[in-house]
Amino acid sequence: MTLEGKVAVVTGASRGIGRETALELARMGADIVANSSRESEDIKSLASEIEALGRKFTYVVANVAVMEEAKKLIDTAISEMGRVDILVNNAGITKDGLLLKMTEDDFDAVIDVNLKGVFNTIKVITPILLKQRSGKIINMTSVVALMGNAGQANYCASKAGIIGLTKSAARELGSRGITVNAIAPGFINTQMTDVLPDAVKDTYKKQIPLGRFGEVSDIAKTVGFLASDAANYITGQVISVNGGLYL
Ligand code: NAP
Repeated sequence: MTLEGKVAVVTGASRGIGRETALELARMGADIVANSSRESEDIKSLASEIEALGRKFTYVVANVAVMEEAKKLIDTAISEMGRVDILVNNAGITKDGLLLKMTEDDFDAVIDVNLKGVFNTIKVITPILLKQRSGKIINMTSVVALMGNAGQANYCASKAGIIGLTKSAARELGSRGITVNAIAPGFINTQMTDVLPDAVKDTYKKQIPLGRFGEVSDIAKTVGFLASDAANYITGQVISVNGGLYL
């Protein structure tokens, strides 16, 4: 599985799953356009690690929730790299709370980044991929889109929306050789799950047949597979990578 000569855009690449995904795709041979919503030291170290692999690297600050910024991200990818072959919609946020306490702002903010952000980048990249007659779009949903989760109505709604968006885009774009898939991670060790109290983590671990949280590499390697030619006949699918949490 090689990505030699391909260009990948990875949103939310400053840390966690997105960072490891950018590295994995670079190890497989792709040049990388990384994104997050603000400048950070994490991006500088990512740039040097990717350049040390002999790959080209560009970073674009853009809030994917804003259409104009999503456009800037894809436009920059094209102007700096000349093409885009792979789009990984990984940027995501949580603003948890039980329904009784969840504010409208917290609901809207999570939908805007997690769901509208995916629509925005797909909308901007679609004409480019259609012209190219090839492309791989990989969207990060979540196991909780399938299960629901108390305290995450906004997040689960956004991630369930991604599944509908993924399947619709797969149906629209398939005839032009473009695949669109989603990955539904279970609980993965990142800053997003670090904030969970230990008691909550232990409760979840007891429900996971493999008995532990996953690692960012578990997800990054699945992205690498879906981005490669090995997955050319897979589209419209939701690939669960969850240690068996939801069967
Ligand atoms: P994370 O460590 O919190 O990283 C999130 C990334 O998204 C960061 O790079 C963040 O950078 C970026 N980001 C946030 N808002 C953004 C915006 N508006 N525009 C552009 N970038 C933005 O999260 P993670 O755990 O790696 O999760 C990555 C993805 O996997 C998310 O979509 C998450 O919902 C999903 N997921 C995670 C788990 C898990 O257990 N960790 C499970 C299921 C699904 P800045 O804040 O600097 O912008």
